[in-house]
Parts: sequence; structure tokens; C-alpha cells
Amino acid sequence: MSSGGLRLVFVGPPGAGKGTQAKLICEKWGIPQISTGDMLRAAKKAGKLPADLVEKMAQGGLVPDEVVIALIDERTNAEDAKRGFLLDGFPRTVPQADALDTLLAGRGQKLDHVIALEVPGDLLFERAVLRRTDKLTGQIYHLKYKPPPAGADLEHRPDDQEDVVKTRISTYEAMTSELLPHYEKKGLLRRLNGVGTVEEVTARVLGALKTS
Ligand code: ADP
Ligand code: AMP
Repeated sequence: MSSGGLRLVFVGPPGAGKGTQAKLICEKWGIPQISTGDMLRAAKKAGKLPADLVEKMAQGGLVPDEVVIALIDERTNAEDAKRGFLLDGFPRTVPQADALDTLLAGRGQKLDHVIALEVPGDLLFERAVLRRTDKLTGQIYHLKYKPPPAGADLEHRPDDQEDVVKTRISTYEAMTSELLPHYEKKGLLRRLNGVGTVEEVTARVLGALKTS
């Protein structure tokens, strides 16, 4: 572990279970979950995300590297991240990974582990399209695998519509052809099977963190 905490990255296609697992791991380890997707959606909700970026997200494309790098630079420097953090959905490109290394190095820090959650395409599609999020608490539900309680005020993300999910999965596949080998070369990457119950996947993640 590098100085002052545990620094983790979760990589995986949309619907792989990153957010679900990140929440559980962060609760267990007492570190913040930092999701660039959540930060961008919060900026959109507050009316602070430029229209071209709102459009980019709605179409399933990536927002420019410099936008997410700036968000991560500030958020990882906050007081609650001094003892570590889990990045969920960042980095997604090699330039983002390089920028992350540089900003951590400037603080005498480095990443400890990169966990890639692997799930086959048909299951990913079902997971993302039937995902629903509680508007109030942010809790992630699934209409088939984790049904929401009656009366919950739910959001269906605009980028979880079928066509957009297909684009997002292709965007992910294109970018991981470079990002995963990048982390593999650094000896940081652990590829884990993301199929199974939430509890089974959590056990694999905890096992990987213990043994790597
Ligand atoms: P990601 O953050 O990788 O896009 P989420 O954690 O939001 O993925 O999970 C996508 C959907 O799949 C959610 O509706 C979630 O409830 C569901 N889900 C997550 N993990 C599992 C699992 N192991 N088995 C079944 N459904 C799952
Ligand atoms: P997510 O919640 O991780 O599925 O991200 C939702 C959307 O936010 C993505 O489809 C992108 O448009 C944008 N986004 C989130 N993280 C990044 C990132 N690291 N780089 C570029 N775009 C991102």
C-alpha cells in the first residue's frame, strides 16, 4: 500500500456491477467512492454541465479527458480522500490513467490495485437496461435481480435506454483494448469474474485485495 491509504480503481463495462460493489467495499474500508459518472450526473442536475457534454453523455460517448481529470484532481485531494479512495468509472482512457499517475505522484501517492469486472455482453445489457436508481438515496436497484421497494421514487438513466447501452458497451470495448494492457504492464490489474450474486462478486473482490 502506498503512503496514507488504499487507492483502488474499478474498471468495467456499463452494467458490470462497479457501482454496486464499490459501495459495499467503500463502506467496509471507510473510504469514499468517487464516480465520475455520478459527479457528471450531479453537475447536470444542478444545471452546471455544458449542453454539449449533456448531449455526449446522452448519446453514450465519453466526455473530454480534461473535464474528468479536473473533477478527479479536486475530489481526490479532499480531506476525506486522504486515507484512500475507490475510483469507479475513472480512468477510462490511457491519457486519463497517465494524468492520474502524475497527480498522485505529485502528492507522494500511487494506486494500489486496479480491479476489472468482467461480464458477458448479453448479461451486461440486461443489467444496464433494467437498472433503476432511487432519486433520493442514490441506491441502485434492478427490476429483476434487486427489485426496488414499493413506492420508491425511481430514475431510469437516459443512457440506460437500449440503443445507448449498446453504444456505451462498444465505447468501453474500444477504450479497454488500450487501458487494460496499460495496467497489466504495470502489474496492477486483477481481472475478476463479475457473474454471480452480488455477494459472490464481493467475495472475489475482497479475495483479490487480500492476495494481490
Ligand atoms: P456499473 O456501475 O458497472 O454500471 P451497477 O453496479 O450500477 O453497474 O449495476 C448494474 C445493474 O446490475 C444494477 O441494476 C444492479 O442492481 C445490477 N447488479 C449489479 N451486480 C449484480 C449481480 N452480481 N447480479 C445481478 N445484478 C447485479
Ligand atoms: P458511468 O456512470 O460511469 O456509466 O458514466 C456515465 C457517462 O458519464 C459515460 O457514458 C460518459 O459519458 C461519462 N463519463 C463518466 N466517466 C467518464 C470518464 N472517466 N471519461 C469520460 N467520460 C466519462
